Amino acid sequence: MFSKRLLADIKDRISIVGYIGERVPLKRAGRNYKGCCPFHNEKTPSFNVSDEKGIFHCFGCGEGGDVIAFAMKFDGLSFSEAVRHLAGRAGIEIPANLDPKEAAREEESSRKKRYMLRINEIARDWFASRLSDENVGAKARRYLQGRGISEEIWKQHFLGYADNSWEMLSAHLAAKGAPVSCAAELGLVKKRDGGGHYDFFRNRIMFPIISARGEVLGFSGRALDGDEPAKYINSPDSLIYHKSNCVYGLNRAQGAIRTADCAVLVEGNIDLIALHQAGLENVVAPLGTALTAGHVRLIKRMTRNITVVFDGDEAGRRAAARALEVFLAEGVSPRVAPL
Ligand code: ZN
Repeated sequence: MFSKRLLADIKDRISIVGYIGERVPLKRAGRNYKGCCPFHNEKTPSFNVSDEKGIFHCFGCGEGGDVIAFAMKFDGLSFSEAVRHLAGRAGIEIPANLDPKEAAREEESSRKKRYMLRINEIARDWFASRLSDENVGAKARRYLQGRGISEEIWKQHFLGYADNSWEMLSAHLAAKGAPVSCAAELGLVKKRDGGGHYDFFRNRIMFPIISARGEVLGFSGRALDGDEPAKYINSPDSLIYHKSNCVYGLNRAQGAIRTADCAVLVEGNIDLIALHQAGLENVVAPLGTALTAGHVRLIKRMTRNITVVFDGDEAGRRAAARALEVFLAEGVSPRVAPL
């Protein structure tokens, strides 16, 4: 459905070394570049990238291809998504699509994604306005203050507050004309047995989960009162959010992790923000759930020097031990800093 000419233009204009180098640490080796393969576990680099040939190849697992194949495999894109993504990056206009059915499907899916991202933005702004509200947000602000987090920092992270109510957000979304079916898919609202919907996040400090591109993918909500059964609850997986491939704080941390060539993994969102406030920016946190192989792969794309800093209590030590198993299974040996 794309012309050969277009595909050739994309490959001509995009340096495969530059593109892969933003995602996998590469070092020059003669005429090519080398790194540890992102598609299998290895400690000695057998993953080669050549700008001259416009291809990558791994001698370990046999994975290989051009920049489009890499974008599909690494960024999890379909062929046409990869072409569009790379064309956009290269500033190449894509001529009108040839297959109308496929085009309609693509259009529908990307329209829905845009909708969902927009609804999350509306929710983020709503939660932020509730946290800033003199009365409504007072208790949440006191909690943040108690944890030593300044207003400047919580504003930088777009923190918010979900009312202790069943319908404040639902009503706000309805007033904004947001389709309730999308809000339900995003997990912002839940269906009531007797019809209608209620707010999923209640009486929680809200942490927007932001992608590397700055999109609001979902939310992590921390209970404000200690007697809540779940300290953190998170958005469910959706068209735009996949928890096992997302870490909290990545949008702010990724540059710092690459610059420092090291990453710090902490347990909670608040820990991460406290470290940011102390000037340490190369920090990420798994999202409420236990660390997964997907999280480790995400981090090891940026660096292999990882320090795990979990709580010093028994639960924290157990979580750190579990995290170590996941890291080791992915061929990464992190350090652990016991508190
Ligand atoms: Zn490989």
